Amino acid sequence: MFNRLYIHVPFCLEKCHYCAFVSEPPKNNELMEYPTLLIRELQLNTKEARPLESIYFGGGTPSLLKPEQVAKLLAEIAGKVPIRKEAEITLEANPGTVDELSLKAFRDAGINRISLGVQSFDDSFLNNLGRIHTAEQSQQAFQAARNAGFTNVSIDLIHSLPGQSIDQWRADLQQAVRLNPEHISIYGLTVEECTPFARKYSADSPELADEDLSADMFEYTDAFLTESGFEHYEIANYARPGYRSRHNSGYWQRDGYLGLGVAAHSFLLEGHGVRFSNPSSLEEYRREVTSGQLTRVDEQRLTQSEAMEEYMFLGLRLADGVSLRAFEREFGTYLNSVYGAAVEDLAKLGLLLQTYERVTLTRRGMLLSNQAFVYFIQSSV
Ligand code: SF4
Repeated sequence: MFNRLYIHVPFCLEKCHYCAFVSEPPKNNELMEYPTLLIRELQLNTKEARPLESIYFGGGTPSLLKPEQVAKLLAEIAGKVPIRKEAEITLEANPGTVDELSLKAFRDAGINRISLGVQSFDDSFLNNLGRIHTAEQSQQAFQAARNAGFTNVSIDLIHSLPGQSIDQWRADLQQAVRLNPEHISIYGLTVEECTPFARKYSADSPELADEDLSADMFEYTDAFLTESGFEHYEIANYARPGYRSRHNSGYWQRDGYLGLGVAAHSFLLEGHGVRFSNPSSLEEYRREVTSGQLTRVDEQRLTQSEAMEEYMFLGLRLADGVSLRAFEREFGTYLNSVYGAAVEDLAKLGLLLQTYERVTLTRRGMLLSNQAFVYFIQSSV
């Protein structure tokens, strides 16, 4: 069962130097052909669907699709699965690929939320990242989204860029707030294997931010955005009241979602949950979808204990944390009878807080979330 839909668009005009996502420049007529494959995949789906709460076009660069292709896709989806009237329908957009006209057409097609991949407002960093747009284009794209009528716009930023000082990061954040978006996602740069950045920056490169600098950036971000009226509702996400990403919140709450497209991941509510993804090469995806036999890659049927672990570390990403009562409702057992020791140890370390109602990560726990999750899993076996 699923009530959310993710659509992966695996094309970008150029590959950014830090990027490990499944995306590449489109060849020949791939961009024209791709929506047809998505529709074919949708038609193959036989899984039970509830009315859709959210649809998310991610990538890659979904804004490379034509608005009429998006409109056709949404019409096909609506023909197969009801879409709730108030559903959140997001399109990720690269600022170098949109203008007021195209954004207006996307809005007419049914998109009601834009997520802009700004990453930085400093051209020298954008250049080093291999982004195809300038800071000025990001500002223009944001304004174009407003002019096109979007009242729900998110901005993605990356901190801990090579050579970035805390002052430069402050300037990026201040510029983002001046634009007055409804939502900001903040990621710390990670140098992924097999990317140009991995060849350029070794783990001990002096240009990469050390733990102290990254921690300072996290602290400043939390303080500044909170003072500016944003809720820090998830480790990497801030929203104006009422504007949390509903689609991504569904991931953290373990709602079922169907992923369409190359390398798209799905999570269906069957038993304790089943996770799988689509083939990660376009050729394979095309062949399988066309033949009507789509393979589930890395299918994992979760056991109850795996589902509990997931429930904990996805739920703890949220500032609201995990409700003791909701855990009990979901699994028929007390959270503390399964994870009592881990909760106690992490609380002693100042990473976790337990009240009568819920467990949440502290601010320090959010900063050290990866260590907290690893510790959590090891201590709870
Ligand atoms: S735009 Fe995004 S998905 Fe595309 S190459 Fe850059 S980082 Fe990767």
